[in-house]
Amino acid sequence: MSQKSIHEKLSELSQNLWWSWQPEVTSIFREIDPPLWSSLSHNPVLLLREYDADKLEVRAREEVLHSRINWAYRRWQEYMDSHNTWGDVHAGVLGHRPAAYFSAEFGLHESLRIYSGGLGVLAGDHLKSASDLGIPLVGVGLFYHEGYFSQSVDETGWQQEAYSNVDPTTLPLKKVMTEQGEPVIISVETRHGSIYACVWQLDVGRVPLYLLDTNIKQNSEEDRQLTARLYGGDQRTRIRQEIMLGIGGVRALAALGITPRVMHMNEGHSAFAPLEVIRMRMKRDGLSFDDALRETAASGVFTTHTPVPAGHDRFDGGLIDEHVGPLAEELGIYHEGLMGLGRVDPQNVNESFCMTVLAFKTSRRANAVSNLHGVVSRRMWRSLWPWRSEEEIPIGHITNGVHVPTWLASQMRVLYDRVLPEKWYLRTGESRVWNGIDNLTPGELWETHQSLKNRLIVYARRRLTHQAERYGRTAKEIDQLQSYLDPRTLTIGFARRFAPYKRADLVMRDLDLLEKLVNDIEKPVQFIFAGKAHPADDHGKAILQRIVRMTQEPHFKGKVVFLEDYDINLGRHLVQGVDVWLNNPRRPLEASGTSGQKVVLNGGLNLSILDGWWAEAFDGQNGFAIGTGQIHANQEIQDERDGDDLIRVLEDEVIPVYYDRDHDDLPQEWIRRMKRSVRTLGWRFNADRQVMDYVRETYIPAAGSLSCEMVVMP
Ligand SMILES: *Cc1c(COP(=O)(O)O)cnc(C)c1O
Repeated sequence: MSQKSIHEKLSELSQNLWWSWQPEVTSIFREIDPPLWSSLSHNPVLLLREYDADKLEVRAREEVLHSRINWAYRRWQEYMDSHNTWGDVHAGVLGHRPAAYFSAEFGLHESLRIYSGGLGVLAGDHLKSASDLGIPLVGVGLFYHEGYFSQSVDETGWQQEAYSNVDPTTLPLKKVMTEQGEPVIISVETRHGSIYACVWQLDVGRVPLYLLDTNIKQNSEEDRQLTARLYGGDQRTRIRQEIMLGIGGVRALAALGITPRVMHMNEGHSAFAPLEVIRMRMKRDGLSFDDALRETAASGVFTTHTPVPAGHDRFDGGLIDEHVGPLAEELGIYHEGLMGLGRVDPQNVNESFCMTVLAFKTSRRANAVSNLHGVVSRRMWRSLWPWRSEEEIPIGHITNGVHVPTWLASQMRVLYDRVLPEKWYLRTGESRVWNGIDNLTPGELWETHQSLKNRLIVYARRRLTHQAERYGRTAKEIDQLQSYLDPRTLTIGFARRFAPYKRADLVMRDLDLLEKLVNDIEKPVQFIFAGKAHPADDHGKAILQRIVRMTQEPHFKGKVVFLEDYDINLGRHLVQGVDVWLNNPRRPLEASGTSGQKVVLNGGLNLSILDGWWAEAFDGQNGFAIGTGQIHANQEIQDERDGDDLIRVLEDEVIPVYYDRDHDDLPQEWIRRMKRSVRTLGWRFNADRQVMDYVRETYIPAAGSLSCEMVVMP
């Protein structure tokens, strides 16, 4: 083991994403060549390829770097081999048959653009926490070689989308091979022939993620492009991607010899998966369709993610027959039987086929992603269980959380290491672990936050400079960007998908008032916006355009900025550096939201509508609420009222508290809220707690309830 060269050790580290949530390991890669690191989107596989090997040997012989690499490598080995994890103790029942976690997107790192937003980041954080906790779990997804689009905005503020082709060999992907040394190829048949896919393995710490890829020679040119883009193409592309993810995903696991004990479907995209499991059970165990459905559903867990109707895939009968017809025949349920599984009322021929309905009908355990979303989802889907009262609808909730090591700034972590118990990061789900936050002195917490905020502002100016250069701005104009954003000014961040219900422009309802707040001599406010609109969402793009145009107006220039191409990297800078994180969706449409939770960890305060996770998080003093959670049937009235409430809470609370300074220029009351926010929220809204809840409340019951091996029938 110790014979390995430094280059080999670095190369092995680069092939497992574990490095990405270890600040010490990340900084080794960065320090090899900081400009190169940054230009390669923080991709260590590329870095090691591009950086001259001889030069690396010389660099690595430097005493300090050498020992740091050895130390990192040893820590990684220990991590991979460790026993007595939380999972060993609490999830032993999963044993050699893991939980399989299906998701259409995974947001793991900026260099792997196989995610678009919150759903993906949630899935990525789930895998990382499952790895940290030692849960037997595998991920299943698709490899999109063009990924999700990169965003720019043109002169008029209109969003432009660009895709680029990624070579999988520049990523930490291994092609999965058979024992004979051939690539594993799976296929899914449609009415018009089969679609084939190979399988890539991506190691996320101890958790393998299997990604199916149709870009192989067995396919027609058209099918080779099937998995090119995330959420690209039309309904037909969508259903073809979804049979790959669900049916193909189960076949890929079978080809690898993996028989999952629990199937967790993260959103309805993968809901065809249970149908394939049913087929296998019928064939292998000679079960009837009904018995196989019952057994398969018993091991199924389904997480629904949005009350917004457009977020639930629907397909017409023709598309379903073309793509799932052959499977339905093998199941002996034929077209109408299959359609019935995707309809609330199986007999209603006017109902299209809904993936969410299919998921509910094929998994016995279902959950929403916050307490309020649970209430909303039970109401929304009550007609699936017409004989039950609303409280008895079997949809529970597990509130989303974020992976602490991924989102916590390393400077913050240094503070936490000092005041929290030893190895606190292994017990982030326990409330008492976080009590030590109160032992931070106001000065050190404020200084650390201020330095992260400075870093954000420098970073924002750099991105603005790149944006301006692309538009051929003059040197003088580019020079001016260096005075954009003031580190002493109260800084509010807003970054999320530009879906209309998120109302990015709510704060602009009264522009005169906003102008006054932004230009106040003594107590000014500044805003940083970012976010993408879905390529087909012109309404979202129009909202984005309004914001971009505002940033160009003389009264707002340099005080309201828009940063293009929101991704995990930009997200990390924002959540670590802002004073306040603004979230103003139209209640109750935000199922959970997680970006505000990342802000909590880094000492920022949330200013949010009482929706999603914030409705159960806000206690009156650990941040700020916009309004009281009332909903008005008239959308226009609700928007107006929320807009007024937003300005009011800014004027009456946020701004005065921020600028209320003592003789050392410290905002004591603000700092008190920062601490309270971390102490009361950090332990609840993190991904370790989330994964432990899934294990205890869904995986273990699902694993136990109908595993034939364990239940002796009377
Ligand atoms: C965390 C994150 C999200 C999800 O945050 P929301 O609060 O749901 O908007 C989306 N995109 C990126 C890049 C993120 O890091």
